[in-house]
Amino acid sequence: MRSQLECPQCGTSYPLNEVRYLCNCGGQLDVTHDLLALRTEIKRATFDARHRGAPQPCVQPERDSGVWRYRELILPVPPAAIVSRPEGNTPLYQHPRLSDWVGVDDLLLKHEGENPTGSFKDRGMTVGVTQARWLGACAVACASTGNTSASLAAYAALAGIPSIVFIPQGKIAAGKLAQALAYGAYTLQVAGDFDDAMRLVQHICNEMGIYLLNSLNPFRLEGQKSIIFEIIHGLDWQPPDWIVLPAGNLGNTAAFGKALHELQQLGLIERLPRLAAVQATGANPFYQSYRMGFRQAVTVHAETIATAIRIGAPVSYERAVRSLRWTNGIVTQVSDTEIMDAKAMVDRIGIGCEPASAAAVAGVRKLVSEGIIHPDERVVAVLTGNLLKDPGATVSYHTGEWPDAHFANQPRPIAAQAEEVRRVLEKIL
Ligand SMILES: *Cc1c(COP(=O)(O)O)cnc(C)c1O
Ligand SMILES: [Zn+2]
Repeated sequence: MRSQLECPQCGTSYPLNEVRYLCNCGGQLDVTHDLLALRTEIKRATFDARHRGAPQPCVQPERDSGVWRYRELILPVPPAAIVSRPEGNTPLYQHPRLSDWVGVDDLLLKHEGENPTGSFKDRGMTVGVTQARWLGACAVACASTGNTSASLAAYAALAGIPSIVFIPQGKIAAGKLAQALAYGAYTLQVAGDFDDAMRLVQHICNEMGIYLLNSLNPFRLEGQKSIIFEIIHGLDWQPPDWIVLPAGNLGNTAAFGKALHELQQLGLIERLPRLAAVQATGANPFYQSYRMGFRQAVTVHAETIATAIRIGAPVSYERAVRSLRWTNGIVTQVSDTEIMDAKAMVDRIGIGCEPASAAAVAGVRKLVSEGIIHPDERVVAVLTGNLLKDPGATVSYHTGEWPDAHFANQPRPIAAQAEEVRRVLEKIL
């Protein structure tokens, strides 16, 4: 077996087709690939050759999916076993008004909110649900702040596997809850927060033999690595100086470091970009650990407008620390006001994102103001989710319910009379 499950802590390995999320020693598992063998088989041209033409009704994963294009580095399954929408192939935007505001000339936005269900979670879920079906799982489950459940529900529906999602009661954005219900997930609203839901789902999955698709699941992280592959491939294999991302449960932070490390081991890139993980000040356990030199993991009671990163006890802590060590990475934090103002700027250039995604942009701006990111460096910020995911947060920002909204665009009530409309419009035109 060339790919396997491996414990980074004690080195024990397990076959890929064994249902397990943790090592016997308690460590979290990696999917590892035989990089030495792949080094001779895989060239940059291997991936260049997998072109995507006009969309066709029958998905050919290697050709159509921005995840499975890199399948040797993701999961070695036969193409017929793959559950794909397809996902990935997301745009890399650039806009002078946003670059000016942030203070970096060469700012690129990798928009993962333009995946099939509106977040990067699809990249992990195509792999996770493929593995679930390959293992013959009777059902799949996750705990979620919203996007994971939306994605799980969609991919499980596509694969014809029942899905169960555990969501914290009342703390999930409307767009995400709507998706879970619409795609047919059995939806459990837990009277507690995300961390409670997380503990419950792990317990129940182990007890009832349901396949767990939280970010603890190593196969999801393999899919999320493709964000990095696609960014660097899209830049003609020239890594940027920085890759900046929002950090909640730390799955992406873990996946990004692993992806970069593997690209370097394979000789596909020479130099590594630095990772910058951005947390909300009200949900900053990783930031606090970072400030202590990662001497210990920290747990907080999380509170932030950015529900996708409202996480107090991040699951992928160890692997995220490893990512920062590999990439000389850093962690920063931004306030909810900074997040919502950054979101308003991203929205106003006509692109848009959900609050958690904007933390990445707010983070770049902060790091520039602190002199850590230089204005002439190339920076890729990852927008993790779509504007439409959380209409409530956007509307409250613009309608005066949000304190210190610096870029609010208030709707204006008006009488149904052409005369008055003209009078008002003449003032602004
Ligand atoms: C899941 C999610 C995050 C957090 O990612 P982690 O891998 O849990 O750190 C950030 N933004 C959005 C939109 C998400 O859906
Ligand atoms: Zn172990």
